[in-house]
Amino acid sequence: MNLSIDILSGAGRKTAAAILVTYQTNKGSRPIRFLLDAGGALEVGEDKGWTQPDHLDAIFISHDHQDHMGGLIDIDNKVPVYATAPVQQHLPAHLNLHSLPICGTTNVSGITVTTGSAGHSFGGVWLHLDIGDGVFYSGDFSLESGLYPFTMPPQANIALLDASYGLYDNSLEQCKNALLHYLKDDRPLLMPVPQTGRALEMACWLTSQGFYDWTLGEDCIAPETVLAGPENSVCAEIRSVLKRMKSQPFNPDAKVVLCGDPDGMSGDAAYLLQQTERYLPVYTGHLPEHARQAVSEDRAHFERWNVHPRKQDLKRLVDHLECRICVPLFHTIKDLKEWQKALGPSVTADSYIELECIELDYDLTV
Ligand SMILES: [Zn+2]
Repeated sequence: MNLSIDILSGAGRKTAAAILVTYQTNKGSRPIRFLLDAGGALEVGEDKGWTQPDHLDAIFISHDHQDHMGGLIDIDNKVPVYATAPVQQHLPAHLNLHSLPICGTTNVSGITVTTGSAGHSFGGVWLHLDIGDGVFYSGDFSLESGLYPFTMPPQANIALLDASYGLYDNSLEQCKNALLHYLKDDRPLLMPVPQTGRALEMACWLTSQGFYDWTLGEDCIAPETVLAGPENSVCAEIRSVLKRMKSQPFNPDAKVVLCGDPDGMSGDAAYLLQQTERYLPVYTGHLPEHARQAVSEDRAHFERWNVHPRKQDLKRLVDHLECRICVPLFHTIKDLKEWQKALGPSVTADSYIELECIELDYDLTV
């Protein structure tokens, strides 16, 4: 058995995700090559930083955010691309698409691929490959979402984990309290948000607080869509709140305006951000350059709404997986010892991992 994991992009900083897994059962056999995610650049004009590897057997897409699927535009239509039904809705039309369950197993090129809900976006999943005592890739994940459930995965020898927030450890409850403070401002809040991620999650939270004066951009996922989607794509407890939320036409006069894109670079958010006197812009996720500038000049605010794991969530998952190798992704690792102290000795900053089991050369016929 020979297994290698080559993090083409996604190690050491917040950037496009693309991980090449090569697996060979024995020396003479054809290697199986899977690509986990095919991310695009986060900043406009930036190169995605990786190219399509040769001889791919399959590409698996964890969820429909730009940094995990934006590179699919450059993928030829011969490679099978696997994604869940809700995610497929947002992928380029030219692809050779195949289905993944939100929770379940799929056999691809003789390898069992297990998927489970990642708690981050509608239809978003983690991936577990049954090779080399288990390879787990979290995609983006959260253990705190009130809308999207997180399913605990099987154990794995190697864990490739979303660590977008580094060792940050504030709870989502703290974020929510901070946001309530901004509701006291005279101006409506303009919140640029991912259309399939936290847009609806925030609307659910506001509704569950008895606050109904919010609006969702028309390209944001609607309560009815989530309710009509696969049963296990939504937390059971939130269904009654979703049923109370009727989709209304987009209303830019609402007190809380939730709309895409999350960077404020296109769509409703970009258009409304031009009306600088009208709104108080509040960013809750990745800050592109123009947003960083606005926050530093006090023209906008930033309050993180957790959609990635905190330190304690990473620790919980590492302990659960019982992994021997753990690679934190999408964040700089300046001090490896600090990470190992937080998460355990399995943490490595390597972007290339190779496991080899030596085949003993016995002649069993003697
Ligand atoms: Zn994401």
